[in-house]
Amino acid sequence: MTVIRGATTIPQDDAIEIKKAVKELLEQIASRNDLKRDEIMSLVFSSTADIHAYYPAKAAREAGFVSSSLFSAQEPEIDGGLPLCIRVMLFVERNITPRHVYLRGARVLRKDLADKINIAVDGPAGSGKSTIAKGLARDYHILYLDTGAMYRACALKALESGVDVEDEAGIVDLMRDVKLDVVYEDGVQKTLLDGRDVSEEIRKPPVSMAASSVSKHPSVRMHMTEKQREIAGRMSCVLDGRDIGTVVLPEADFKFYVTASPRVRAQRRYAELTAKGYAVDFDELLQEIIRRDEQDSTRALAPLKKADDAVVVDTSDLTIEESLAAVEKIIGEKI
Ligand code: C5P
Repeated sequence: MTVIRGATTIPQDDAIEIKKAVKELLEQIASRNDLKRDEIMSLVFSSTADIHAYYPAKAAREAGFVSSSLFSAQEPEIDGGLPLCIRVMLFVERNITPRHVYLRGARVLRKDLADKINIAVDGPAGSGKSTIAKGLARDYHILYLDTGAMYRACALKALESGVDVEDEAGIVDLMRDVKLDVVYEDGVQKTLLDGRDVSEEIRKPPVSMAASSVSKHPSVRMHMTEKQREIAGRMSCVLDGRDIGTVVLPEADFKFYVTASPRVRAQRRYAELTAKGYAVDFDELLQEIIRRDEQDSTRALAPLKKADDAVVVDTSDLTIEESLAAVEKIIGEKI
C-alpha cells in the first residue's frame, strides 16, 4: 500500500474556492502519480480551523472521485500555522514511490522539500511582470519585492535634489544620506524615502526614465543588489526586475522572462496612467518605452536580458489571468 500526501491553500473561506482547490489538488496528485481514480481507496482530509464554507470530502466527490471512501476533519487553531490550508492523505493499494504534491504555497509546510522558494520574474516595462509577480505572491502566500521601485525611489531623490542622474558620485552621496525602505502594509509594498511614502510618485513617467539612468551606475546597482539578496535570503519571495534571474538570484528556484510587443506595453502603461488621472501622450509613452528598453538592454552592467534557464512568457495576446495561469502551471508541476 502507498500513502500519498498533499496540501493546498485557498485565498478565502469560500465554497467555490474550496471546490476548485480540492479538484486541482486531487487531479495533480493523480496525474503526477499516474493513478486512476478507482485505484484510490481512501481520501482523508484535514482543513485548518479557519475553513468552514464547505467539506473538502464533498468537493472530492463532486470532482469525480466517487469510488474512494472519504473522511474530513478540522484541525485545531495552531499559532503561526499556514492559514486557509487543506491537507489530504491518499491511500492506494499498489506499491509505488509516492510523489507528494504541495500547491499554492503549501510547500512551506514541508521543510524537507524546501525551506523557501525564490521566484525571479524579469522583463521590460509594461510586459505584465509585476502583475504576474503580485499574483504569484498572493497565490503562494509569499512576499513580493518590486525591485524597480527601489531604483525609482533613488531616481526621485535625485530629481528632487537637483542631482544629475548621470552623475554617479553625486547619486552615491545622495543615497548615503537618505533612508530607502521597502515596507509591507496588508501585503502591499510601500516604498519610503526618509519615511515619506513615495509609492505613487515614483510611477510618474519622468521618474521612469530617470530610474533607468541611475540604474546604470555600478555602485547604485551594488547597493540595491545587496538589499535584494538579503531579503530573498531570509524568506520565500517573488522578485521582479531586469536582472533578478541573471545577477541578483542566479540560483532562484524558478525564472521567468515576461515580454510583450512595445505597442502592447505602451497601451498598458497608457491605460494605467490615464486611469490614475495623469495626462499622457500615447506616442510619447511608446517612445519612452523603446528608449528605456534600449538603455536597459545595452548598459554594461546587469543589462535587461533573459537568463539562459528562464522560461519566456509572451503576454502580448494573453489576459492577466491567462499569463498568471501559464506561470503557475509551470511552478505547480514542480512543487
Ligand atoms: O520595473 P520598473 O519599470 O519599475 O523599473 C524602473 C527602472 O529601474 C527600469 O527601467 C530599469 O532601468 C531599472 N531596474 C533595474 N533593475 C531591476 C529593476 C529595475 O535596472 N532589477
